[in-house]
Amino acid sequence: MRTNGIHANLSSDFVLRKFAGENESNNMKKLLVANWKLNPQTLNEAKKLFKEVSNFKIHDPRFELVICPPFVFLSDIRNLTSEIRLGAQDVFWEHKGAYTGEVSAEMLENLGVEYVIIGHSERRKWLKETDEMINKKVLAALGAGLKVILCVGEPLTIRKRGLTAAKKYVGAQLKKDLKKIPKSQTPRLVVAYEPIWAIGTGKHDNPSGTVEMTKFIKHVSCIMYHVSGMRVLYGGSVNSGNAEMFLEKKEIDGALIGGASVKPKEFGKIIKIAQRLS
Ligand code: PEP
Repeated sequence: MRTNGIHANLSSDFVLRKFAGENESNNMKKLLVANWKLNPQTLNEAKKLFKEVSNFKIHDPRFELVICPPFVFLSDIRNLTSEIRLGAQDVFWEHKGAYTGEVSAEMLENLGVEYVIIGHSERRKWLKETDEMINKKVLAALGAGLKVILCVGEPLTIRKRGLTAAKKYVGAQLKKDLKKIPKSQTPRLVVAYEPIWAIGTGKHDNPSGTVEMTKFIKHVSCIMYHVSGMRVLYGGSVNSGNAEMFLEKKEIDGALIGGASVKPKEFGKIIKIAQRLS
């Protein structure tokens, strides 16, 4: 089976060698990304949430944590500490000019933001972001020196047809979203596999399906973009009850966490799991 010129099954020795024992990503720390989405509502609440999360020994060499608050709180959270890795939830592709309401990659970089989430399914849905727009954002963010967390994932109608259909869908997204990315910038790329039907629904993927999708995403990125050692995260209703079954898999390099990341106690338990497993 071929998907856009890419084999959907993962039997090639090359890829298995690349992503088995000697793959850098197997030795990497797990990456936890907290996507606060449109929460909380006030700056005071945002600071409180950040302080509560900070109590969980977040500066730990065993794992990496990125907090992604709404744009308006980034600067204040940066002022609380220079040590936390900050991420933005979106970016625009132009650097400056008549683009009302937009925020550039350079603006984020200048605020001390290190990561940016691009292509989240909620933006694809509510803001009608297309793969072409997402590609422009990826190029602009990487070009400005940011690390990109590119979100990809299939809707339920596709997944119901099976993993081959899901790979075909995600393979097509990757092909468009990563078009023309310079090889020199690929070390700053992370992909989050987020099946749409699992986001915010309480229904998580099964870890074996995620492992297969993760391997496929690494395979595609390696064949098409010569990206080796790229981290692939899982996102979709991760909580303290299911985090371990994803994080314990060597192929899954971390998690993108939405709802549970704004519940400090719950998020603290996930952090403890990542510390134990890393
Ligand atoms: C997300 O925001 O990317 C996400 C996966 O949300 P949730 O954990 O709430 O499903």
